[in-house]
Amino acid sequence: MNNVYASSHPLVAHKLSILRKVSTDSQKFRELVKEIATLLIYEATADLQTIITTVQTPLAKCEGIVLKENIGLVPILRAGLGMVEGVWELMPSSEVWHIGLYRDEKTLKPVEYYNKLPIEPTVSVCLILDPMLATGGSAVATIDILKRWGVRKIKFVGIIGSPEGITHLHEFHPEVPIYLAAIDLGLNENGYILPGLGDAGDRQFGTG
Ligand code: URA
Repeated sequence: MNNVYASSHPLVAHKLSILRKVSTDSQKFRELVKEIATLLIYEATADLQTIITTVQTPLAKCEGIVLKENIGLVPILRAGLGMVEGVWELMPSSEVWHIGLYRDEKTLKPVEYYNKLPIEPTVSVCLILDPMLATGGSAVATIDILKRWGVRKIKFVGIIGSPEGITHLHEFHPEVPIYLAAIDLGLNENGYILPGLGDAGDRQFGTG
């Protein structure tokens, strides 16, 4: 699949298998979401622009590198929250902009309920964080919001994607790269990913 990166790293695969297990408790689940997100972001940020600078070591001056772009982390509420911490630790100067969407029961379309983006964009790169790319509805709506805000460089970082969700996202936004730990078989009649891991929000927050 074009512009879709499913990790083949053994550490990611190992952690994902524990994450999927029905017997994994909330605390362990949150720890794994954080760790997997951190590993995935390493790949997703490989093409960030940099500036050459000079660094003074205790012994001499040498060439150094600093990140050039302002980065926004955009967790989709609520399941995306657990992915923020690890990513933020790696990029502490990033801004975090939350987007809240719920699915209207009748239309099945995502409805925005939380968006406090200022009028002018404050970042030039956005990394959308949402563990499950299921139907792709929330991801498409979030990218629409970020594009309207004026951000041109957008990436989606999830943990498990469905073929349907990937196709839907790329139908509307083919230039947005998708980074995942795994691509699963498909969706069930309720829009859950199979085999998946169940409800990522409930499992993180202990509300299932
Ligand atoms: N959201 C979840 O939390 N799990 C799924 O399988 C699909 C959407």
